[in-house]
Amino acid sequence: MTGAAGAGPAKIIDGTAISREIYAGLKERVAVLGRANVRPGLAAVQVGDNPASKIYLRNKVRACDEVGVYSELHHLAADSPQDVVLAALDQLNRNPRVHGILLQLPLPQHLDAERVMQSIAPEKDVDGLTWGSLGSLVAGHAVFEPCTPAGVIALLERSGVAMDRRHAVVVGRSVIVGKPAALMLMAQGATVTICHSHTRGLADHTRRADILVAAVGRPRFITGEMVKPGAAVIDVGINRLPDGKLAGDVDFQSARNVAGWITPVPGGVGPMTIAMLISNTVRAVERAQQ
Ligand code: NAP
Repeated sequence: MTGAAGAGPAKIIDGTAISREIYAGLKERVAVLGRANVRPGLAAVQVGDNPASKIYLRNKVRACDEVGVYSELHHLAADSPQDVVLAALDQLNRNPRVHGILLQLPLPQHLDAERVMQSIAPEKDVDGLTWGSLGSLVAGHAVFEPCTPAGVIALLERSGVAMDRRHAVVVGRSVIVGKPAALMLMAQGATVTICHSHTRGLADHTRRADILVAAVGRPRFITGEMVKPGAAVIDVGINRLPDGKLAGDVDFQSARNVAGWITPVPGGVGPMTIAMLISNTVRAVERAQQ
């Protein structure tokens, strides 16, 4: 299949179904490691009581259980001093049962988030967000790719959307999503435009995108008239509306009538982010074995 689908109604890219396929493959790899008496282990660290973080962590632990990955949850008080958080991470860096460390963001304000993040050992950075991991991504030798953009690429690949020689537009330039997504699309052969809050004539850019990735953090910001007919639209946004419902950064109803492919929210990129985290954890063990 090529990227040239007709204009809407778009095919829905089902991130939940695709993540299940990925889990099935991971289960087999975990079984192979089990035969060598090795069980991949993920340690998740939460500082404070952010309710959204709690839900994310619960889902990540559940995914570990499903695949057979050992997991442990470390909950530190919201007012934990920086040296206590660093000491907890240092212990996990040295714990042989733990192959991957996930530091759930955001951290409380009093902590130096960059400093804390950088203290994760490179070989356990399964979130792919330390400077070392990001640097190796820039250099084209990524060990652990950041999970959310890795999920974006996997969704496109598994939906048969061609990236090579296509024009991709990424709206958003954050370190955790926009920038690495742009690098990874470029590595797939796409020509990439990165847009942000200082971009003039945003819609002129988005309307030229064969692949449009929205990582803005504004509900229903990308409307159908900003989408090129037949484009693949990947909505990274997760926004909580006043009525408690979730909305993406794309106005799904108008965009689906124009796009060739589109991801829903929820059920698009979200489940893939978790699948990529577990995948990186399994890879951490396989690398250590080699
Ligand atoms: P972020 O750090 O707030 O970055 C948002 C980006 O959007 C910034 O680069 C900003 O530009 C740009 N932007 C804001 N307003 C804009 C406008 N009017 N026009 C063009 N660009 C604009 O957010 P993030 O961490 O990347 O997250 C983005 C969204 O993805 C959020 O909804 C978040 O909840 C969601 N998310 C989902 C997952 C998942 O697993 N599915 C994971 C992570 C994040 P400037 O740089 O110029 O400010």
